[in-house]
Amino acid sequence: MIDRDSKELTVGAHENKMGFRLSNTTELIFDNVRVPVENRIGEGLHIALNALNLSRAFISTLGVGIMQRALDEAMAYGASAVPAAPHQIPDGSADADMAIKIEASRCLVNNTMKLMDAGHLVQKEGAITKTFVSDCMQEVTSNAVQIFGGYGYSKEYPIEKLMRNAKIFRIFEGTNQIQRLTIAKALEKEYK
Ligand SMILES: Cc1cc2nc3c(=O)[nH]c(=O)nc-3n(C[C@H](O)[C@H](O)[C@H](O)COP(=O)(O)OP(=O)(O)OC[C@H]3O[C@@H](n4cnc5c(N)ncnc54)[C@H](O)[C@@H]3O)c2cc1C
Repeated sequence: MIDRDSKELTVGAHENKMGFRLSNTTELIFDNVRVPVENRIGEGLHIALNALNLSRAFISTLGVGIMQRALDEAMAYGASAVPAAPHQIPDGSADADMAIKIEASRCLVNNTMKLMDAGHLVQKEGAITKTFVSDCMQEVTSNAVQIFGGYGYSKEYPIEKLMRNAKIFRIFEGTNQIQRLTIAKALEKEYK
């Protein structure tokens, strides 16, 4: 634990981000910080790494929520829009594909959470969950924008915001490329 007012700690400028704008993001600069022994919360890198294992499952819950909102908005818009021509009547397959991805993501998150509750490390499971959910988010939110047509691209509706918010989930808590390395390493250990 480091004192917020410590002069060795500088809080950087507020980042102007494309999405996730309600979450304040800044750089933290640590310059020759000395941590008193009594301020240590434990020993070993595993504390930090385990926090990441857990937080990957936690952020996936946000991902499921964002996808659910995208589907809710798309369904509400679809119900209120009057198709101008028969070829514009949606056949429901886009909605169904969104629902499939949301349900699969929700089940995965629930399962990983149950493993966490049972005291498992969830290194591989957290990485799998975060990668799957965030990959689904790109398609679900983009398809939701598509259902709105031109309006989807406009800030008049909340749907474009969901697409911008979805993007960060493939980047933070370790990018999905790094998650795939983590999963591959775990598999190597399991199968050696
Ligand atoms: C909104 C936001 C909030 C954040 N919150 C936090 C936070 O709370 N705490 C915190 O510590 N950090 C936070 N971050 C930082 C975030 O975790 C990093 O941006 C992320 O891990 C990627 O690291 P990087 O930006 O250094 O990209 P880089 O490591 O430079 O990666 C650039 C690209 O190269 C790819 N790449 C890199 N190495 C490999 C490899 N070996 N194999 C294949 N591909 C590779 C990456 O996947 C990525 O696509 C946040 C970032 C953002 C944008």
